[in-house]
Amino acid sequence: MSNVEERFRKMVEDSQDWFWEFDENANFTYVSPGIRNLLGYEPEELIGVNAFDLMDADEAQRVRRHFDPIAKKYLPFKNLENVNIHKDGYKVVIESSGTPIFDKAGRFRGYRGIDRDITERKATEEALRQSQANLYEAKHMAKVGSWQFDIENNRLTWSDETYRIFGFKPQSFDANYEAFFDAVHPDDRALVSDAYSGSIRHGQNDYEIEHRIIRKETGEVRYVHEKCRHERDASGKAVQSIGMVQDITERKVTEMALLAATQAAEAANRAKGLFLAKVSHEIRTPLTTIVGFGELLEDAELTSEHRKYLAAINAASNTLSLLINDILDLSKIDAGELVIRLEDVHLPNLIDKLAKSQELQIAKHSLSLHVSIDADVPDLLVGDPLRIQQVLHNLLGNAIKFTAQGAISIDVSVLEEGASRVLLDISVTDTGIGIAAELHERIFEPFAQVFDANSRHYSGSGLGLSISRSLAGLMGGTVELESQVGTGSAFHLLIPLQKKTVDISEKPLPEIEPISGSMPALNILLVEDNQINIQFIKTVLENLGHKVMTAENGKVALDYLNTNVFDLVLMDIEMPVINGIDTLKTLRELEPLSGKHLTVIALTAYALMGDREKYLKMGFDGFLKKPFTTRELVNELIRVVPG
Ligand code: ADP
Repeated sequence: MSNVEERFRKMVEDSQDWFWEFDENANFTYVSPGIRNLLGYEPEELIGVNAFDLMDADEAQRVRRHFDPIAKKYLPFKNLENVNIHKDGYKVVIESSGTPIFDKAGRFRGYRGIDRDITERKATEEALRQSQANLYEAKHMAKVGSWQFDIENNRLTWSDETYRIFGFKPQSFDANYEAFFDAVHPDDRALVSDAYSGSIRHGQNDYEIEHRIIRKETGEVRYVHEKCRHERDASGKAVQSIGMVQDITERKVTEMALLAATQAAEAANRAKGLFLAKVSHEIRTPLTTIVGFGELLEDAELTSEHRKYLAAINAASNTLSLLINDILDLSKIDAGELVIRLEDVHLPNLIDKLAKSQELQIAKHSLSLHVSIDADVPDLLVGDPLRIQQVLHNLLGNAIKFTAQGAISIDVSVLEEGASRVLLDISVTDTGIGIAAELHERIFEPFAQVFDANSRHYSGSGLGLSISRSLAGLMGGTVELESQVGTGSAFHLLIPLQKKTVDISEKPLPEIEPISGSMPALNILLVEDNQINIQFIKTVLENLGHKVMTAENGKVALDYLNTNVFDLVLMDIEMPVINGIDTLKTLRELEPLSGKHLTVIALTAYALMGDREKYLKMGFDGFLKKPFTTRELVNELIRVVPG
């Protein structure tokens, strides 16, 4: 054997592929050792074995259909795929190539060739094919199309799905920019072209937009989401854009329907709230008269029978007043009309005042009250003291109402402390009847009570907790409950409050001037919505010997003026419900009926528009610019009060 032959022999014998020869009947006459690697046989095992016996019957039949016509013509074959069975029984995908063998006389003697295992390659190809199919399917299902725009040559290519999204048969024409732009909803065309050319001009490579298209055939409007990316050459010039377009009509329609429904529901709730607010406000006016006259009647001479009736009327009208106030609050919250104010909150004072207001009730029930405020709770914070007080009043009132014996405690602690805010836990704990776990959430709903109000055992409307939680929510907090039947309840007002940086707590009230000799004691109505101002002005006036009634806005003031006689009105200008100017207008319009002129002083914080002349022209008798001193107040009183 020559060197060359030897080298070829070695190559054949060492190869991982399998070299073979078979005769005209396809029975093997030579099998290289590569067979071990490929099908697990020893070469000599296969000598004389038919090549098609290495396949199962169906596969053999399939392969013969390809092979026989080739063999008939003694042609070579290349990369003929066939599945053989490994000695261990599993399938191996093989690629066979062969050339015919002829003997010296030129007679066909069989084939000589090489087989190669392509199982792995086939598996990869199959996986790729499958994933492409999946992608296609997914794109179709998600209604995602793709496109490519060759900017240089002004050529646009669309995927099948893109054609479908735009309402065309896939590849039914050559896509172009005009066809696309034509389909864009006329109102969205500027948006689309600005996004596209704008991003190219400004060197921005990616953008996303949502716009509408109109399908030409049907006139149907669809919503699409487009994502686009520009590819630029070395000089930064955009040469190609690729993009995807997704039909989002269903999502958009659902979103819009949801939004409309939410808006309608909110509007309905607001309308309900406004209606209730109006009605309860209207009820409050005559009710004030009933309560007022009821109280007056108590001083009259009555028979004991009549006194009993009167007590019942007064008790009922008081209950009604409380209920109306609750409904008014709840409806204001629903109507979004309840405004949270930011003022100084001095917690120790606030809780002290609260405890004092309930002293009688606590004593009546033979309960004890303990207050503890942790040392790290800042004395002075910023929040809405009135609303905090209202929530705690509700909670304390309930604790007293539902506790037959034992103790009630109010504890204040810091839950979290930040640089400018603290989260406080103000809890009201009682040793009362407790609340079953399954009712812990329900009792916060309006009108929800554990015991039916008709049982008459416990009074109340079932609105207190609902209002308390809503108020806490408006202040950024909430009300939580821990309770066990028979052991007691702990209601926690969790509320964030701002820290006050400079401590100006308890600024002393200004020096009080002695009552001026000539000034008579006056019946004054103070119309003002700011609690701090009320406190200040009221104290000054009362110390001067005057009687002061307060109204928190113009509407309430007009109600009071209906049923009471005042010598003087101090009227704030900026107030909710009815402002000072409108209140004065109404008041002056009614004056011809009574024939009396009521002296009204304007209180204004608006220094800029606050020139005295302007207010006097409007019909005010006097004018005070906030903040004013006691001296200024007294001087203005002396100036405007006749005599
Ligand atoms: P009201 O007290 O006017 O009925 P609330 O909304 O304040 O309305 O309370 C709702 C219900 O929750 C009460 O009727 C009562 O059944 C229950 N409840 C509230 N506070 C307590 C408490 N401290 N102990 C036991 N039950 C309570």
